[in-house]
Amino acid sequence: SDRIKIKALLQTTPTEQQVNVKGWVRTFRNNQFIALNDGSTNSNLQIVVDFENTDAAILKRITTGAALSVTGTLVASLGKGQTVEVKATQIEILGDSDPEKYPLQPKKHSLEFLREIAHLRFRTNTFGAVFRVRNSLAFAVHQFFQERGFVYLHTPVITASDAEGAGEAFKVTNLDLNNPPKTETGEIDFKQDFFGRATNLTVSGQLEGELGAMALSDIYTFGPTFRAENSNTTRHLAEFWMIEPEMAFYDLDDNMDLAEGLLKYVIKYALEHNREDIEFLSQRLQEEEKSKPQQERSDMSLLEKLEFCLNNDFERLTYTEAIEILKNSTQNKKKKFQFLIEEWGADLQSEHERYLVEKHFKKPVILTDYPKAIKAFYMRQNEQDANGHETVRAMDILFPGIGEIVGGSQREERLDKLEQRMDEMGIPKEELWWYLDTRRFGACPHSGFGLGFERLVLFVTGMGNIRDVIPFPRFPKNAEF
Ligand code: ATP
Ligand code: MG
Ligand code: MG
Ligand code: MG
Repeated sequence: SDRIKIKALLQTTPTEQQVNVKGWVRTFRNNQFIALNDGSTNSNLQIVVDFENTDAAILKRITTGAALSVTGTLVASLGKGQTVEVKATQIEILGDSDPEKYPLQPKKHSLEFLREIAHLRFRTNTFGAVFRVRNSLAFAVHQFFQERGFVYLHTPVITASDAEGAGEAFKVTNLDLNNPPKTETGEIDFKQDFFGRATNLTVSGQLEGELGAMALSDIYTFGPTFRAENSNTTRHLAEFWMIEPEMAFYDLDDNMDLAEGLLKYVIKYALEHNREDIEFLSQRLQEEEKSKPQQERSDMSLLEKLEFCLNNDFERLTYTEAIEILKNSTQNKKKKFQFLIEEWGADLQSEHERYLVEKHFKKPVILTDYPKAIKAFYMRQNEQDANGHETVRAMDILFPGIGEIVGGSQREERLDKLEQRMDEMGIPKEELWWYLDTRRFGACPHSGFGLGFERLVLFVTGMGNIRDVIPFPRFPKNAEF
């Protein structure tokens, strides 16, 4: 077909050429002006209808939401904010939309309302912008790793291991080994119990990723991840996408450099390729800010925040240093934290992370060397420090408005240390024999991290709720579409 996308059309100079466009009606004014949108940009194309020579039956069917094919002449536009418009010579209704029933009216809808009609919210400017930005970020992630010779390794979604041992995995089945579900003919029903084996949906591709890195050197996974967390926060989903690189011969500094480099690269990419959408979202956020009390308003626009993040080194400090800052903060002394920081060893809550990022350093922060007791078994153990504190080579990257965006570490490559830790934590070694093999045959220093893709999209779009940056959010009781 000779259809031209509206984004491309709006950039051409009017030459009285014949064009064809297809899209959905956003508004139809005075029986004369159609604002047509095809999702390539938030800017609508103005179609001028020659209503005297158009069939009345057709005119009646040009309603908000209807799908049209329009052929006409591309001409200069006198309307403000647009350089071209199309004088229609032929309008074909591809799909009607009953104006009485169509839920999207040409007005601003609340995000809560749009979440209830997530199947139609793609047709709004906000979600058009969000999902185009999300697309660019995903592409940029691949480009970043591909340019650096990383291998995109697909790790399994169904697995028998619960990588973190944190009990956050959704069971694929509720398999009772003594009484497995049977078919009518008495055989084990493999559809119900994964061929008679207890399995779950992956919570992380890391352990499998490490296997790849122990031969391919640098790999990354980028796929859906599942967590059975019955939480209703604005930062957690039951199904989210995670980017997990694993690199042989990387220490923690190399790991942090890569993570910081990745974040800056993809943000820069989005700013360059989705300027219009990010400007729109920035504007949208500024309007939203106006409804907040003065002291809660952000002093930077979304665009300024993104630029700031690109142009400044992330602050790097240890957990121990962070605890000192938090302990001595007026916030803590005035008992304004919900969870007061009393001593070394406490797990940081998001209020503490956000204090460090938003109030203290006022920039992205990388915290390293967390207490061993609050981190996963596979993180590399440090020597005990002078105060007798036991830490691991972990790093979390904390972002303004988001909190934790990346969690990573140098991995424990020493078999004896790893086994000892697994014993202490009650993690069955026999179930992870394949993982331990990498420590038996050619073990080497290596590192990796997990970047929550939706948290990245949240940051770049300035949206406030993680359910609004994934096309089909999965959260407690929500799985219909
Ligand atoms: P949090 O402390 O926010 O619950 P976590 O420490 O449990 O995160 P990790 O296991 O470190 O998460 O996972 C790596 C990254 O995946 C996190 O830094 C975050 O960006 C993202 N992430 C984790 N859980 C979720 C979730 N339920 N929904 C969306 N993103 C998530
Ligand atoms: Mg968590
Ligand atoms: Mg965490
Ligand atoms: Mg984490």
